[in-house]
Amino acid sequence: MKIIHTVEALREARAALSGTVALVPTMGALHAGHQTLMAQGRQLADHVIASVFVNPTQFGPNEDFNVYPRDLDADARRCEEEGVAILFAPTPDAIYPPGFATTIHVAGLTDGLCGPWRPGHFDGVATVVAKLLLIVSPDLAIFGQKDYQQLAVIRRITADLHLATKIVGAPTVREADGLAMSSRNRYLTPVSRAQATKLSQAMTRAWVAWQAGERDAAALVKLARDLVATIPDSSIDYVEVVDPDSLSDYTKQADPIPDARGAVIALAVRVAGARLIDNLRLDGPLPAPLAHHIPS
Ligand code: AMP
Repeated sequence: MKIIHTVEALREARAALSGTVALVPTMGALHAGHQTLMAQGRQLADHVIASVFVNPTQFGPNEDFNVYPRDLDADARRCEEEGVAILFAPTPDAIYPPGFATTIHVAGLTDGLCGPWRPGHFDGVATVVAKLLLIVSPDLAIFGQKDYQQLAVIRRITADLHLATKIVGAPTVREADGLAMSSRNRYLTPVSRAQATKLSQAMTRAWVAWQAGERDAAALVKLARDLVATIPDSSIDYVEVVDPDSLSDYTKQADPIPDARGAVIALAVRVAGARLIDNLRLDGPLPAPLAHHIPS
């Protein structure tokens, strides 16, 4: 596996690869969820390029950019385990050279969910992902459904800017108790880690209600929110039930949720200071770890 730090060297190494290329962009602190994306890349393309870049422009001034876990050696080992051909780990200067002045903004999809809580975040994400797609020029790029809104934003950019890369969404990888794997889970103490399982249980409650015929968005939100609210030392940014494509908030519509549209429950909660996000398709199958922990 080659580890490359500059855009020029990356372009040269990518051009030397014959066959198709899958890109897996990450911020490092890699875990089994990221590795699943890479393994999927190996199945879908001849080569996988993974990137590790803690993108400064997607963090707000009071967020965790400075303390975000960084360990390139450990990340490289995980990439190597998955047969990654190239690990692209650029410096901030390589991605944002002096004079940099272009930002990509995706309207509409970024109005709700994490958008209002993280001003500028999706502009940072949109800009860096567009850059990575233009630098690497992959045949396909794989992103996790764990970041549901991010995936929707990236699909929008790719369509709107006529980028040739195919975007693939990969299912959320969870711990045995249902907690979605996340680099930010490292911030949790054993006590808050045990409590954090209530996030997936709360979404499962809404899933059970949906399956029983509940189509009132406020009722679905309340079921989930009431359980999340029992997590000590936590604060809820949002619990929303949204349209799977437009991400519009169903509680702002008077009518019951139409079956033909389906629904996603999405939440962002600060548990002992760690901001955790998760989501679940209510009109889809319940993923295995969640099915083992259906709350009463
Ligand atoms: P990150 O570096 O954690 O911000 O995310 C890099 C990529 O990995 C994004 O496409 C995420 O959606 C994806 N990802 C993160 N956690 C998971 C997970 N638990 N399961 C699947 N994909 C994930």
